[in-house]
Amino acid sequence: MNPSLQAVRGMNDILPDEAEIWEHFEDIVRDWLRRYGYRPIRMPLVEPTPLFCRAIGEVTDIVEKEMYSFEDALNGEKLTLRPEGTASCVRAAIQHNLVASHGPQRLYYHGPMFRHERPQKGRYRQFHQIGIEALGFAGPDIDAEHIIMTAALWKELGLDDVRLELNSLGSSAERAQHRAALIAYLEGVQDQLDEEGRRRLYTNPLRILDTKNPALQSLVEAAPKLADYLGDESRAHFEGVRMLLDDAGIAYRLNHRLVRGLDYYNLGVFEWVTDRLGAQGTVCAGGRYDSLIEQLGGKPQPAAGFAMGVERLLALWQENGQLPERHAPQVYAVHQGEAARRLAFRAAENLRADGIDVVLHCGGGSFKSQMKKADASGAALALVIGDDEAAAGEISVKPLRGDDAGGRQWRVALDALSETIWDSLLDDETDMEQK
Ligand code: ATP
Ligand code: MG
Repeated sequence: MNPSLQAVRGMNDILPDEAEIWEHFEDIVRDWLRRYGYRPIRMPLVEPTPLFCRAIGEVTDIVEKEMYSFEDALNGEKLTLRPEGTASCVRAAIQHNLVASHGPQRLYYHGPMFRHERPQKGRYRQFHQIGIEALGFAGPDIDAEHIIMTAALWKELGLDDVRLELNSLGSSAERAQHRAALIAYLEGVQDQLDEEGRRRLYTNPLRILDTKNPALQSLVEAAPKLADYLGDESRAHFEGVRMLLDDAGIAYRLNHRLVRGLDYYNLGVFEWVTDRLGAQGTVCAGGRYDSLIEQLGGKPQPAAGFAMGVERLLALWQENGQLPERHAPQVYAVHQGEAARRLAFRAAENLRADGIDVVLHCGGGSFKSQMKKADASGAALALVIGDDEAAAGEISVKPLRGDDAGGRQWRVALDALSETIWDSLLDDETDMEQK
């Protein structure tokens, strides 16, 4: 294939074998979100560029170098493919008065995000997040709920090697005090910083603490800690979260260098990390962002949320080997001849209307080659319709798996078909359970 026609680097096709696993995962996630009272919201993939600059912060990796931004060729509007969901979700809530008219909101969304990063395992240019935002909640209860619900999801998925890291970023006043102390400290060691560190010294010094440069580790380890600048209120909030986590039996590590890559966070922030995915080990991250709604022009409202990286979670799920079986149809219908084909269409539609998954053979071929396809499909039963059946208005049913396979085959009238198929499928299920 001509390379210029292939998918954009870092943007992946998800082929059927894998997409079925995605759908299974999404089903589990949807049920889980409903159990906690979260409701879906869907936002556009494209937003005005200033929304992200304002929400995420000018001096962040995302805004500085990762956004897919462009001008609309027709009207010159500055647009960006969303790099994350919180800004869009908050914008939607403000624009439609969700919190003002209906009170606090528990929301979730799911979909692709776009960041121009160097593609590698667990890091793509189009990737997927499941994001949760709780708008209008001030207390530590909602922070704890978010962490406890994620822990429950890991349990349900059978992921046991993700661990929790926690930090408190305090209030903006406390961060300002800490920031001054941090800048003074970093000025003293300026000649040891790397280029990015020097560039961020006055614009976003907190982010220097988050550096991945090994040469800077001991230097940032010795830097003034935000924890030492927290006031009573911030401490009480953090302690409130920790108490509920202790009650729930959730272990965590306090990581005073956990600052998150986006500017909008305050108070409690958290990350779930694993060692099993190499360098891309964070599978879920979030925290409180009390000033964002006001910053985007809404009436001030506290809020907290988190996002999970779907590709990374699925990679971990796959490593743990707890994958669902490939989905097979329940019935595969084979047929030969004009009258048989017309009967096969009616039979298949009847079964589907009664909730049975049917693949109807298309494309002709001998009965033998059609039966091979039926076997390969993994279906439990085949419908076999030839001239005889067509003339009698009946359908032959042939078990393809289990004890009956190869042996018994029976014929039924069209209007008795659903019942006999359901009976046979349910019998199979009971047999399986007894084994
Ligand atoms: P990282 O430090 O790995 O770049 P981040 O802090 O930029 O992560 P967030 O903006 O917090 O990530 O996004 C939440 C989650 O989305 C991450 O924890 C990760 O699981 C996932 N994620 C972020 N960027 C990517 C990407 N480029 N490809 C795949 N997953 C990603
Ligand atoms: Mg990043």
